[in-house]
Amino acid sequence: MQPETRQLLKITDTTAKKLEKLQLHSAWDLALHLPLRYEDETQIVPIAGVNVGDVCQVEGTVIYQEIQFKPRKQLIARIQDNSGAMLNLRFIHFYASHQKQLAQGQTVRALGEIKRGYFGDEMIHPKIKSPENNKLAQSLTPIYPTTNGLNQPTLRKAIQAALETVNLQEILPEKILQNLKLPSLAHSLRTLHHPPPELSMNTLANGAFPAWQRLKFDELLAQQLSMRLARQRRRNGTAKPLISNNYLSKQLLDILPFRLTAAQERVCAEIQADLAKTVPMHRLLQGDVGSGKTIVAALTALVALENEGVQVALMAPTEILAEQHFIKFKQWFEPLGINVAWLSGSLKKKEKDQAKIALADGRIRLAVGTHALFQDDVLFDNLGLVIVDEQHRFGVAQRLAFKNKGQDVHQLMMSATPIPRTLAMSFFADLDVSSIDELPPNRTPIKTKLVNHLRRAEVEGFVLNTCQQGQQAYWVCPLIEESETLQLQTATETWQNLQAALPDLKIGLVHGRMKPAEKAAVMAEFVSGSLNVLVATTVIEVGVDVPNASLMVIEHAERMGLAQLHQLRGRVGRGAAASTCVLLFAEPLGQISKARLKVIYEHTDGFEIARQDLEIRGPGEFLGARQSGAPMLRFADLQTDVPLLEKAREIAPILIADYPDVVERHLERWLGSKEGFLAA
Ligand code: ADP
Ligand code: MG
Repeated sequence: MQPETRQLLKITDTTAKKLEKLQLHSAWDLALHLPLRYEDETQIVPIAGVNVGDVCQVEGTVIYQEIQFKPRKQLIARIQDNSGAMLNLRFIHFYASHQKQLAQGQTVRALGEIKRGYFGDEMIHPKIKSPENNKLAQSLTPIYPTTNGLNQPTLRKAIQAALETVNLQEILPEKILQNLKLPSLAHSLRTLHHPPPELSMNTLANGAFPAWQRLKFDELLAQQLSMRLARQRRRNGTAKPLISNNYLSKQLLDILPFRLTAAQERVCAEIQADLAKTVPMHRLLQGDVGSGKTIVAALTALVALENEGVQVALMAPTEILAEQHFIKFKQWFEPLGINVAWLSGSLKKKEKDQAKIALADGRIRLAVGTHALFQDDVLFDNLGLVIVDEQHRFGVAQRLAFKNKGQDVHQLMMSATPIPRTLAMSFFADLDVSSIDELPPNRTPIKTKLVNHLRRAEVEGFVLNTCQQGQQAYWVCPLIEESETLQLQTATETWQNLQAALPDLKIGLVHGRMKPAEKAAVMAEFVSGSLNVLVATTVIEVGVDVPNASLMVIEHAERMGLAQLHQLRGRVGRGAAASTCVLLFAEPLGQISKARLKVIYEHTDGFEIARQDLEIRGPGEFLGARQSGAPMLRFADLQTDVPLLEKAREIAPILIADYPDVVERHLERWLGSKEGFLAA
């Protein structure tokens, strides 16, 4: 935070540091830091009238105080009010000041949620104050998102000061504002920060409330503007045109055991047309699991490699997948006289340094790896094309990192997860899309079976059968999100149990904690066919390709997300043999699990599954924002605010064409230091 801002807002150094943690750097950032929810301190309700689940404020006299030590140290105070009823207040963390404030005979006001306690109704960690000369609040109290050590009153004061400092005048042109039919920004901000007394909790909690609509609109507009400017910048950029006469790709196609599908040929042509331009390509290759995106990536790389000195980087989200690509590309490219290099986080420092030097001086033309390829200290001599596999698996921060590196470089992103329409309209508006809409021929559809885990022995018999017929099987261990150690333990146990049950089969194990070299060795054994069964944690989720594997067993399928199940299932059904996916589940099933299992059982089309997935859980997770912990849109919701998004999309180009200064000021308000973020 600038010292001037700090002085203007009368914020101490310590507070400023906390605010920075919340990404609040300027007065505008503070003004746009809106309440998460509100508390009602405007009334006191009689204890006799409260119900479990109510969030309310009560006032009473402490009739009893105790510090308990079991099950852990805690402070209990019992209050009684004029209605004669009593309520317990329980504090698991407390200070001496609490004990004093809650001493027997004191009158206190407590605000919190009524819970059913062991000894009657109680509030746990209520907000308490002593009521002397403490009038009731006139309106609802805003509660802001905050961080450790920054309390609500301090934050509220800073925001108040900011609101008084910033210029709340509209910057959007009058004509556009009239069309919007939304309240002014000044009015909206004041209402949300200081709700007038007549506004109820329900009104304020509703995203359709006009003041919220206005804020959401402004946010979406900033996002659209930032997107469009990014696109303009890209369009103005100059990439090296990559022209080819396909002499390399012809050689590769000659040694392939299959012919391209019509869809693969079409997308290759679309990509090749992009590459020939000076406008950097920014294309998403969409295609369901198993549709054959890898060979398209390879052919694209060859186009680039036909150009003198041009380098290509292929990046995948996991070591296993990157390594598979590395092996495959080596197998395809070495006969053409092209060396393929490997770069991942797990390489020894010396090897990494060597690879880095060879990339920087241009000796390596094609590098395959994880996001280690795009660390700051990796330099390319003449990078012309970046291919990103399973693009949706990368977090926002990683995407930003390679976006910066990839300025003026052609980019091909690949994903099996189709982009929902609202995301295509917003965050991915700057992408051209090619779709592989047919699967390679002669695939037999995968049969999906839902089986109660109590029938595990039958499933083991099925595994034995399948392997005795010369096929291979995956056995996926249950997902344990809470603990990696437990996950590892479960994987090992599953492996041991399966070995005991099927002593005639060779069974391997891969899990996330293994060293990359160990993982690679097990994978290689499975690929070569010397292992019958591969027990795996979900590390095999994306991209792994072993056509002879025709059976997939997934334990505790009810714990997994739809995209994950679809990706896992997509590991089989790649060869000519009929494939089966067995989803083991354990009762009882929750609503969402039930809905998911039904979808995965009924559908094999990735687009349809993604559509239904979106209905079940909303679009937020597609952005990868959850993994990286970075917020994208704070107020608007791409599920419910489509009309606002459409308006913003309509208005953004008008502003860019006719009101460049408005664009600049709007972005300054909304993004300030965060520029680039909304376009990631
Ligand atoms: P994904 O799109 O999921 O990345 P892959 O590129 O891994 O799919 O391809 C899946 C499998 O299909 C691989 O074994 C690949 O060799 C095979 N394949 C790709 N294209 C064709 C084709 N045109 N005909 C037959 N098999 C193909
Ligand atoms: Mg793939």
